[in-house]
Amino acid sequence: MSQLKLLWSLQQHDRRLAQLIQKLKEIEDEKKMDDLIVRLQQVEYDVTNKKTRKEVNELKIQRSNNKLEQITLKLKDVEKKLYNGSVSDLKQLTYMNKEAQDIKKESIRLEKETLSLMEETEKLGQELIEVVNNYNKLKEEIENNMNEFKSTSIQLKLEIKKEKVIINKISSRLSEDLRKKYFTLKASKGKVLAQVHDGKCNGCHMTIPLYIMSKLKNKEEITYCDNCGRILYYKES
Ligand SMILES: [Zn+2]
Repeated sequence: MSQLKLLWSLQQHDRRLAQLIQKLKEIEDEKKMDDLIVRLQQVEYDVTNKKTRKEVNELKIQRSNNKLEQITLKLKDVEKKLYNGSVSDLKQLTYMNKEAQDIKKESIRLEKETLSLMEETEKLGQELIEVVNNYNKLKEEIENNMNEFKSTSIQLKLEIKKEKVIINKISSRLSEDLRKKYFTLKASKGKVLAQVHDGKCNGCHMTIPLYIMSKLKNKEEITYCDNCGRILYYKES
């Protein structure tokens, strides 16, 4: 391979390497993952909150039911005494009657309370299923992203390594002078070689004088653009 072709190839690989490094930097800077983790924490909080509220409600229902059971027994006892004739004192009977009425009122209140608690708990249960689903979906999305990120990152790092090896190989085949020239030009101009199109240097877009054009036909000679100083690469079509 001629020195010019080596230089051209070096530039292609240099650019590929820069692109790969940029891509790796971009995926490492990706904000998407952070957003997903914040959302997961919010949903996790929602799950805990609904779970706790549901448990508290279930405890309240349990307590209400126990109390209802207790006062139902008490009512039975009062009613038994009221109607079996064991109490004859009018004052005491009036008192017991009032007690029975109060217990009935309290049971109605407790029944209503339990019913509304049960409705609320059922609603919470449904909401809980939904948030748990959301949580699982998000977790899966994060895991997928993480795997994708890992595999892309590994792949990019491998390609970067490969490109660096190729670049070193090409550099070692260049003459010392050209190698130095290449890296000096790269540092100052970015692009070292400029292709020639329609008689113009595509680095600076100036028309190339005829004497340089004729030099370009001699492929072995390294020719510079006398305007921008880049190495001219001429491919005869
Ligand atoms: Zn030029």
